[in-house]
Amino acid sequence: MNRQIIIIGGGASALMLASLLPKNRATIIESNAKLAAKIHISGGGKCNITNKYMGGEYFLAKHAFVESILNVFDEKKLLLWLKKEGLNPVLRKKTHYFCENSSTELIDIFKKKIKHQRVLLSEKVIEVTKRGAYFKVKTQKRILSAKYVVVASGGLSFPKLGASGIGYEIASSFGHTIKQTAPALVGFTVQKEQFFFKTLSGSSTKVSIRVDEQIFQGDLLFTHKGISGPAVLDSSLYWQKGSIEIDFLPHFSLEHMRGSKKQISSLLPIPKRITKAFLVQLGLEDKPFFQLTFKELEKLQSLQQYVFAPAGTFGYSKAEVTKGGVCTDEVDAKTMMSLKEEGLYFIGEVLDVTGKLGGYNFQWAFSSAFVCYKNIRE
Ligand SMILES: Cc1cc2nc3c(=O)[nH]c(=O)nc-3n(C[C@H](O)[C@H](O)[C@H](O)COP(=O)(O)OP(=O)(O)OC[C@H]3O[C@@H](n4cnc5c(N)ncnc54)[C@H](O)[C@@H]3O)c2cc1C
Repeated sequence: MNRQIIIIGGGASALMLASLLPKNRATIIESNAKLAAKIHISGGGKCNITNKYMGGEYFLAKHAFVESILNVFDEKKLLLWLKKEGLNPVLRKKTHYFCENSSTELIDIFKKKIKHQRVLLSEKVIEVTKRGAYFKVKTQKRILSAKYVVVASGGLSFPKLGASGIGYEIASSFGHTIKQTAPALVGFTVQKEQFFFKTLSGSSTKVSIRVDEQIFQGDLLFTHKGISGPAVLDSSLYWQKGSIEIDFLPHFSLEHMRGSKKQISSLLPIPKRITKAFLVQLGLEDKPFFQLTFKELEKLQSLQQYVFAPAGTFGYSKAEVTKGGVCTDEVDAKTMMSLKEEGLYFIGEVLDVTGKLGGYNFQWAFSSAFVCYKNIRE
């Protein structure tokens, strides 16, 4: 058998690549006892596979690099491929494609497609070296040899599901630059001044968040650790340290309410529990709106520009993805091959490409796998 390709990792990108390759061509090495651990729990167990709207602008990355890869295998081609394999993802939230019932629908397709590839489970890759035209892949159990190595080992998020820094170590050992990594699509912890957020744990409200010139609209969820929810997770992609600005009253004019006889907490389009906590913080009474003095109104308006510096993030243990990674300037977008070492490929999250919430990270994993397949099959 001509198993010339070793794929490091048994997650989303690895499984797509192994599914596309001709039979008996690849060996997948996965440190977990099972394949596809993240697909399994993703999207609340239903896996948000892709999105109706796709493009480089949905990624924190070099946009031209991402686009050239998406152009080869975009969401439409992915959906067609899935359909051919018997999966018809359903649209939720108008634009997000999910498995209809369970992410196992997708995992089962991959398992069927890779039946004729070799799969080594519970086997951790420790090192990759090269002698002549062949790579030596050292695991805890053996040394394997192959002409091509595809690093599909993902990022550092969710270490309990097998995440490790092996991809970055391999890349560095072959001279690649690693863009500083950090947890992303993750909640923020708060400093002393915002500890009162924790008393609101479980409440959520619609907000608009500004971070680093980017604006994210959506739900903010107060948690016992700080803040989370879609708008916060997306904003974590761009947060580096420093302040963020939250508008708790997006598209709402306090000025226009001046004559209202309603209590403040009844008037504001925020859950009462949240309004009351903020009123206490602002030193304001919950009274009929028209009774607010000009100064008090100004204080209330600060809810539309609530600026604070998060203490940090919830960390890799809670982050959906890792931003940063193998620098894309050193990888060929037409093949996914390293520009430093012939025969070495990088696909998926290990690269410095991070998508927003909404299925972008799986689409990236699958698109980059497809481009790699197109080159490596020959
Ligand atoms: C809770 C959660 C929910 C998510 N939901 C979504 C979603 O709905 N939609 C979306 O688009 N994205 C989602 N993501 C992100 C998405 O799962 C990842 O971006 C995607 O899985 C990346 O694919 P990958 O193949 O690059 O890496 P992974 O899928 O992470 O696969 C990498 C594999 O490599 C293995 N590995 C690591 N080190 C070694 C080693 N030394 N030796 C052998 N194997 C190793 C790991 O065990 C892992 O199985 C979610 C992530 C999390 C954590």
